[in-house]
Amino acid sequence: MDTIFYNGKVYTMEPGWEPQSAVAVQDGIIQRVGSDEEILALKTEQTELADLQGKTMLPGFTDSHMHLLSYGYSLEKVNFYSARCIDDLVTLAKDFLSQRPYLTWLQGRGWNQEYWKEGRFPTRYDLDRISTDVPMSFTRACGHIIVVNSKALEVMGVTRDTEDPFGGHIDKDENGEPLGIFREAARDTVYNALPDLTVEDIKRMLKNGMDELVKAGITEVQTDDFEALPPGQYQKILDAYHQLEDEGLLKVRIFEQCLLASQPLLEQFLAEGHHTGEGTPMFRIGPLKLMADGSLGGRTAYLARPYADDPSTEGIPVFTQEQLDQLILTAQQGGMMAAVHCIGCGAADMTMHAIEAAQLACPKPDLRHAIVHCQITDQPLLEKFAKLNVVAHIQPAFVDDDIPIVEARVGRELTRTSYNWKTLQDSGVHIAGGSDSPVIDFSVMNGIYCAVTRQRLNGEPEGGWLPDQKLTAEEAVRAYTAGGAYASYDERVRGTIRNGKYADLVVLDKDIFAAAPEDIKDIKIEMTVLNGKTVYRR
Ligand SMILES: [Zn+2]
Repeated sequence: MDTIFYNGKVYTMEPGWEPQSAVAVQDGIIQRVGSDEEILALKTEQTELADLQGKTMLPGFTDSHMHLLSYGYSLEKVNFYSARCIDDLVTLAKDFLSQRPYLTWLQGRGWNQEYWKEGRFPTRYDLDRISTDVPMSFTRACGHIIVVNSKALEVMGVTRDTEDPFGGHIDKDENGEPLGIFREAARDTVYNALPDLTVEDIKRMLKNGMDELVKAGITEVQTDDFEALPPGQYQKILDAYHQLEDEGLLKVRIFEQCLLASQPLLEQFLAEGHHTGEGTPMFRIGPLKLMADGSLGGRTAYLARPYADDPSTEGIPVFTQEQLDQLILTAQQGGMMAAVHCIGCGAADMTMHAIEAAQLACPKPDLRHAIVHCQITDQPLLEKFAKLNVVAHIQPAFVDDDIPIVEARVGRELTRTSYNWKTLQDSGVHIAGGSDSPVIDFSVMNGIYCAVTRQRLNGEPEGGWLPDQKLTAEEAVRAYTAGGAYASYDERVRGTIRNGKYADLVVLDKDIFAAAPEDIKDIKIEMTVLNGKTVYRR
């Protein structure tokens, strides 16, 4: 044996199994699970012994929907939320840039002059104190205003003669010189000037992102990365992953949710020979990813009925029914499953219709299309999940933001059947847990806490929101382990601790099944193991 983990509390997550205490691993594969006595008997001279000191071991976690590249990109943007004056902004940016000399354009976000003693926007002249060589652009907390330095103005070719674009404004001083402040539609001038990401940039961002994922005990991500580049540039991302794999730098398994939002792009991708499951144990092509609607906060989630707090809108479907039917049928014919972003019940209805039609036209035996988010649902829709074996990709920690707004947006009746994960679970639907990072933090412990308590991270509301929809700790852990493995057709090789499966494991500092629900979010990840190798230790 290469490694024996012993003296632990090993929850295999295999149905009906008692906790065990030891796991033997060879060549990255679990060989045997059992008591210390049984497993230590397999020790040879080469065996490395890992004493778990009574701690809890689980199968490695899967995040079933996130955006790894965008998350890695976000790590290269200075965060100004803590700044309390312009000097703070300058110091934060200078420090950030000095640690990242490879940046050819410095981006930042989150400044808010309301919290500053100066009470005014920063200008190009303030930013020039950070650097006059590296162009930079810093977005205000609201997202609607960007300030840039003089170097960026030079690169963008913006001068006193540049006119305001339609729907936007470029601030100028009393002499008519641009101040570096771009409002609303004028922000496009800045966005268009940002350098294209190279394969090297993408590799660095993915690598930095994976370094953080392993700290959360995550051993596979199902990630939509194509969205981070202009449509059609996905080859750079595939190249980056393949190079990282060749260099032995993939610390997390990748199942790529391929955003191909138009018929020609999908057909091109299929014609190149791609299909769900293509790849290696470390990097595989996952499903076709589609966005069928928007967000609840912005009332762009498509409900197909008026919003309770704004009857003038039903939300916005991204596709017509015909377009969506065609995309999913084409995917199914080409050997790709689909994972479709649906927040509103109208979007989910359209998606279910498309899946049903594709299955009639081109029947497949092991159908595993997925709906990502599945937030607003009605009773008939909940029943469709089981009927069509649609996997539910849920983000339990979304309730932290959403609890205060759901009922206002969709009314009491529809709220009762929404975020209904327990109902889905009990009807036999495969549930996979995720984060949608960088939208929210990918902490799996936060996700499990929210699924189990149905509370926000601050503990509100008392007793939980729609408390009959609470998952048990075991069900919630299953969503992040076996559920995630099912979603990537991996139930034979991942998702539980069992001989013959990949040795992807996580060790927690406390027993998650003995902990009080409110304490789950504070449980720490002690160690993460991928293919039998420790990729993170606290
Ligand atoms: Zn997403």
